[in-house]
This record gives sequence, C-alpha cells and structure tokens, in this order.
Amino acid sequence: MQRAGKGKTPRRPKKPSNIEKDPVGVYCRIRPLSGEDEECCVEMISSSTIQLHAPDGLKANRNGEYKEMQYSFKKVFGIKTTQTELFEDVAKPLIEDLIHCKNGLLFTYGVTGSGKTYTMTGSPGEGGLLPRSLDMLFNSIGPFQAKRYVFKPDDKNGIEIQNQVDALLERQKRDSQASVPKTPSSRQKADPEFADMINPDEACKSESVDEDCCYSVFVSYIEIYNNYVYDLLEDAPFDPIRPKPPQSKILREDQNHNMYVAGCTELEVKSKEEAFEVFWKGQKKRRIANTQLNRESSRSHSVFTVKLAQAPLDADGDYILQDKSQVNVSQLCLVDLAGSERTNRTRAEGSRLREAGNINQSLMTLRTCMEVLRENQMFGTNRMVPYRDSKVTHLFKNYFDGEGKVRMIVCVNPKAEDYEETLLVMRFAEMTQEVEVARPVDRPIYGLVPGRRQRNQAFKDELSRRLEERGGPVNGEDPVLLNQLIESLPPLPPCELSDPSDDQTLPRMIEVLERRHHIRQMITEQFNQTANAMKSMLQQFDSQIHSKETVLFDQRSKLGEKDKVIINQKTEIERLEKKSKTLEYKIDILQKTTEMYEQDKRSLQQELESREQRLQKELAERRRMEQRMQGMVTDTKMKWEKECERRVNAKQLEMQNKLWVKDEKLKQLKAIVTENGGPGSGPTEPPVKPDRPSRERDRHVAQKRSASPTPLSTVPPVRPMHRRSRSAGGEKWVDHKPPTNLDLDTVLQPILPNAIKVSTPNEKALSKCHKYVLRHQELASDGEIETKLIKGNVFKTRGGGQAVQFTDIETLKQECPTAPSRKRRSGSGEGPTDFNENRAPVANASSAQGYQKRRRP
Ligand code: ADP
Ligand code: MG
Repeated sequence: MQRAGKGKTPRRPKKPSNIEKDPVGVYCRIRPLSGEDEECCVEMISSSTIQLHAPDGLKANRNGEYKEMQYSFKKVFGIKTTQTELFEDVAKPLIEDLIHCKNGLLFTYGVTGSGKTYTMTGSPGEGGLLPRSLDMLFNSIGPFQAKRYVFKPDDKNGIEIQNQVDALLERQKRDSQASVPKTPSSRQKADPEFADMINPDEACKSESVDEDCCYSVFVSYIEIYNNYVYDLLEDAPFDPIRPKPPQSKILREDQNHNMYVAGCTELEVKSKEEAFEVFWKGQKKRRIANTQLNRESSRSHSVFTVKLAQAPLDADGDYILQDKSQVNVSQLCLVDLAGSERTNRTRAEGSRLREAGNINQSLMTLRTCMEVLRENQMFGTNRMVPYRDSKVTHLFKNYFDGEGKVRMIVCVNPKAEDYEETLLVMRFAEMTQEVEVARPVDRPIYGLVPGRRQRNQAFKDELSRRLEERGGPVNGEDPVLLNQLIESLPPLPPCELSDPSDDQTLPRMIEVLERRHHIRQMITEQFNQTANAMKSMLQQFDSQIHSKETVLFDQRSKLGEKDKVIINQKTEIERLEKKSKTLEYKIDILQKTTEMYEQDKRSLQQELESREQRLQKELAERRRMEQRMQGMVTDTKMKWEKECERRVNAKQLEMQNKLWVKDEKLKQLKAIVTENGGPGSGPTEPPVKPDRPSRERDRHVAQKRSASPTPLSTVPPVRPMHRRSRSAGGEKWVDHKPPTNLDLDTVLQPILPNAIKVSTPNEKALSKCHKYVLRHQELASDGEIETKLIKGNVFKTRGGGQAVQFTDIETLKQECPTAPSRKRRSGSGEGPTDFNENRAPVANASSAQGYQKRRRP
C-alpha cells in the first residue's frame, strides 16, 4: 500500500538530493481533416515523429524559406487513433498512479479546433479521456468505496474522517432533503445525454488496488477565464430579478505549500455516472466564447480535478481506521487549455479581443515557466519561475516544483491554414519535453496486515454459512449439540402436581433448575474463556504474521537495493573490462613497437661492432704499413748514404788522379821552361809538390765549404764597361751552376737578379729566359780555382726547341791565401789583370736538345 500525503494534496516533497525525475510526457494527436480536398501540412513519419510541410501558398510567398521540419514526441497518434488507444497509452497510467496515491496532471494543448476538447471530453459515442478515466477509477475501487460522508473535505485542501454516527446522520439528512436533487447512484441510469460517452466498449480496471483500504472520490471543476478562476460546480442561489455575475475564486496555499482554489466545491461521487453528471453540469455552465474560428471551442481553460481519498481498514478489516493521519489523498487534474493561436488571428473585437489576449497571456506564462524550468534544470541555474504570473501556472506550480506525473497531449489540425500556429505549438512541445518533474515515490505503510478485508469477508461468509447450516441465526443452535448438552444436565424430576399440599415437588424442581442454571453459567463462562483464548491466540498469530511480513518487506527492499548495487557493479565491471581490453590492446601495440625498436637496436649494434672491427683491422694494417715504410726509408737512406760515400770517394780519387796528371804536366812544363829560360829568367821558386799543396788546398776548400758561408757582396760577372745596366736590369738569366761547383767565398761574384738557378739546364727554364750563363769551375795549373762564366743568348729554334748562342766568357780566379807558394793576386786591387776576359766569336749551332754550349777552347 502506498501513500502520497497525509490528508493534503499534492504533497510537497522534502527535496531529497537523489530524487528521480521524469521528463514531461508529450504526446501528439493528429486529427483528421474536415474536408477531403483540404491541403494537409502534417505527415506522420513514424510512431514518434511527424513532419511539417509548408503549405504551397506559403512556400511561394517566402521563396522556399520554410524548411521541412521534423518533431519527435513520446508517441504520435495518427488520424485513425481511437479514443480507447489514446486512453490506454496516455491516461491509464495516470489512473493507476492516482490509485497508488500519486498525483497526475494531464493537459491538452493546441490551436482552436485541433481536437483538445474531443480528446479530453469526447463526443457522443466516443468518450474522451475524462469519462474513460472515471470509468476505470470506479471499476477499480467500486467495491471498496467508503460510505458517503465518511470522508469529508476540510475546506483547507485536506480530507478528514467522520465518525460513523455523524456520517450516518448526514446521510439521513441528505436523503430527507427533498430540495437537493439526488445525484444518481451507481444503480441509477445515466443521463441519456451523455450515457453513450461514459460506457466504453471495454471496461478498464486497475489490477493492483489495495483492498484493505476504503476509498472515496471527490470531484471539482473550475474554469479559468480572463485570468479569473470560477467554480463551475457552485450552487449559487439564482435570483431571477437581479442575476449576479459569477464570483471568481482565489488561489491559496495550504499548510503543505500546495495550491488550491479556496472555497471551491468538492463533490463526493460514488459512481462514474454521478461523477460525469457533475462534470456535465459544470460543462453546461461554461461560458463559451464564440470565435469565428470554431463556434464550439472555448476560449477558457477548464480544470476537472478528481481527488481520491483513501484510508486503511482497522485490524479486523471491519471499519475504517479512525485516524486522520492515515488518510491519503491523491489527485488527477484533467485540463483542457484554451486555443493557443495568436489574438490577431481570431479577429475578435471588443470584449472578445480582451479575452483572447488574456488567454494567450496565460499560455505565454506557461511557456515562459517551462523555458525557465528547463534552463534551471539543464544549466543548474536558479532563475525564478514566474508561476504567479498566471492562474493556470500558479495552480499547477506544485507539479513542477514538487512531484507528480505530467503529461501533455499536443493536438494538431493538419490543415494548411493552421500551419504557422502549428509550428509554434511544435516548438513549445519540443521544449516542454525537456522539462523534468520529480517522480512520485512509493511510500509503503507498516502496522497493519494486508488482506484484512478479505479475511473479514471470509469470516463473515463462513459465519453466515454455518448459521445457515444450523438452520439460520434464529434457531441458533445445533440440535445434536443441544441434546447432548441437555443430556449432560441433571434430569428434571417428575413435576406433576396432584396434590395442592404437595410441598416437595416444587422445591425439588427449583433445586434442579438452579443446579441446571449454575451448570449453564459455568459452561458459558468456559465458552467465553475459550473464545477469549482463541481470540488472543488469533491476535498473536496475526501480529506474528504481520511482523513476519514486515521483515519480509524489509528484506525485499534490501534485496532491491542489493540488486541495484549489483546492477551498478555489473555496469562498472563491464566498463572496467572494456577499459582493460583497450589497455591490453595498447600494451600489445607498445610491446610490438618495443620489439621493433629492440631489433633495430640489435642490428645497429651489430653494424657498429663490425665497423669497429674493420676500423681496428685498418688501423693495424696502417701501423704495419708505417713500420714497413719506416724500414724501407731507413734502408733506402742507408743505401743512398753508402752510395754517396762511394761516389764521393770515387770522385775524390778521380780528382786526385787528375791533379796528379796535371801536376806531372806542370812539372814537365816547368822543366821545359827552366831549361829554356836559363838561370836569370823568372822567379825561381821551388816546385811545389803536387800532392800536398793541392790536397791541402782541397782540404781548405772543404773546410771553407763546410763553414757556413758569410754573405758577401759579389761583383757581377761582367766587366764594368760591358752593358752592365742591361744585364743587371730587365733581362732574365738562366744561371747554370753544375752540382760539382764549389761555393767560393770570393768578393767578386756575379749578381744575376731574377735568374733561374739550375744544376742542369732544362728546356723549361730556358724558355722563360733570354740569357744563359754557365759557371764552370776548374783547377788552374797554378793551383787556383778558375771559375768561368760562359754567357750566351737564348733563342727559339724552328723545331720548337731552345738554342744558346754563346757570346762571352768571363774568367774568375781565386787563390788560396794560406798556400805559401802562391802570391795573392786577387783582391790586391790589381783588378783587371785578375779577370781575364776573353771574347771569342761564337757560331750558332743547334743541338738535338735545342741548345748548345760552346766554350772557349
Ligand atoms: P478544440 O477543443 O481544440 O477547439 P474540438 O475538440 O472542439 O477542438 O474539435 C473540433 C472539431 O473537430 C469537433 O467537431 C471534433 O468532433 C472534431 N475532431 C477533433 N478531433 C477529432 C478526431 N481525432 N477525430 C474526429 N473528429 C475530431
Ligand atoms: Mg475546445
């Protein structure tokens, strides 16, 4: 058993942080077109989506600016949808909720003529959601209804319980009041005006009614018109002379902060017929504002409220528990909103215009409220929702603030004329779907054992059955039992009085009867005791069962919690498994990458090693080569040194021989001279030993050679008179100095600037120069070293070679100062005599090499 609130409705929740929320359920119903040839601008493309097509006229006007828009809903009901189908899907769950102490709000929204009233109220033969809801409610709670006036509204939006006597008195009063027209009871026939609306083909019923409760239904019907609230069920005394306009009602907040219409009539109804008659009565009173659009349609909002009060039966399942705190009240509001079209479209004038304006104003407020609510919910903002700006929103504030189930049916007329209005309706519907409302929670109550009504009924049935078996409650007792009982009593003595003076029979009789009476009392007492014991046993049993059930319930709820935890953990496990799978995959990839890198590394290392080995080998090879080269160098060096030594020795020997030969020649010459000249002629100097002085001079020369020569200014090897400027100037010389020449430290040295010095003449040098000089040294017969500078001009031959034409020979002599036998002649200033300059005519000659040297003979 669930309970929504204690005597108040709707209940304001305590705002727990983890409340579950459901979006506002928005459904769409498309009504059929009135005429077959009408243009249709709405197409149902699936059970939850519709598509709007801009009508042809509009497309042409706006240059195809209109898009084909699609809108989705919880469900779309097409033109063929029956009222039953709609009821099954939309309203039935709300009635189930109502029976289970949960509040609901159902409203129809749409343009005038779109079928709002048809959907909510229906038409003859096709009852809408309202009569069907009443039908289902009474089908479900019918047998469990409390007697009239047991529940009583307290005028502060709450419901109280009256005691049996007061209720009975009120019932009697009602019956006796002839002036009050009796509402039809369930047994009475419904008004033929609407009879075919409240008797649907299939009876609908809730299967989960708590049978241990007593129920009572109260209905109220209000109209909100021009933002004023009117009670449509109010029984105002009608004054035909001065008819008063209806008084508007105000909205109040009850102690649970729920909104209600203060002083609004709430009528207790016991059947769907009675309930619908009340509605019909109110409906008749509704002020119908006729607009050009639809003469039937109302320009006001109507709210039909079904309130269900329920209270548990006592422990015996016999009477209602007389405890106000145990009364639960839930309510379902069925709202038929006014047309949502804009004012100008109605072309209403005067007071009508004002009506339309206000109607739209309150729908605008509804729209704003939804927008703010949605924004607050989506973005966590805390903007104030302007419920108070209109009566409609103010009245239903608690559904959005508190808890309940809210459903909206958007009615659509697919005709082209309504296209633009329908677009607006769709936008509102789409936005409303995003608003969430706290889901009403089940509130189980403890303390009473379920199934009390059934047990009580079974007990009563069994009792009457037994009584019938015993011959009915009048005779009361079982004859056999009675006989046995009578037999167990002391037998009656004969009570025949034959003698008036018999004073024994009567006293004996009295005594026996007294004994019998005593026995009877004892039996009665015993029976009462047994009955009491039995009763207490039963009560004990009952409470045991109850506690067991409580425990069971506890366990069940715990089990539910555990189940939830398990489900959560399962999803968590699934998530983790997925995560671990992706991680494993990543690890796999990383491992493969690592392997690749390692392979790379290994191959690179191998390459490095092989390269290092190669390098080592090359280094070793180089070292070996170096060693070999060094060995070769030393070998060659030694060989050449030896060779040089050998050559020098040979040369020395040769020179010595030459010297010796010359000496001999000289001696011979001297001897000839001495023989020819006589004693008086020339200086008589002892002949010099050819060997020694020359050798000594040689040694001196060698010594001089070995000493580092001091730079001396030398005299050019030309006579001062002889073209000195030219030879010293621009002409280039080839200075041929054979390697055997000794470096002499004489003052007179030829200076040849720009000369190319060569040891053997070559063609390259000759080609670059114009002049050629050969330094020829030889030992003179007097032991002096004679240096001849043989000069010539270089010219080109026809064959492309070079030829030298010798032109001049200069002779320089040098004497060793240490030689005793020699007069120092050079450097003594006798200059010209020291330098014999002989010039010989030179003939041109070409050699195969391109040059030729000619010496003076
Ligand atoms: P509203 O209340 O939105 O102004 P109504 O419910 O009065 O519109 O509908 C206008 C007309 O259209 C009524 O005559 C009604 O019978 C008809 N109608 C509306 N919806 C349907 C429907 N689904 N099937 C058949 N007729 C419909
Ligand atoms: Mg209507």
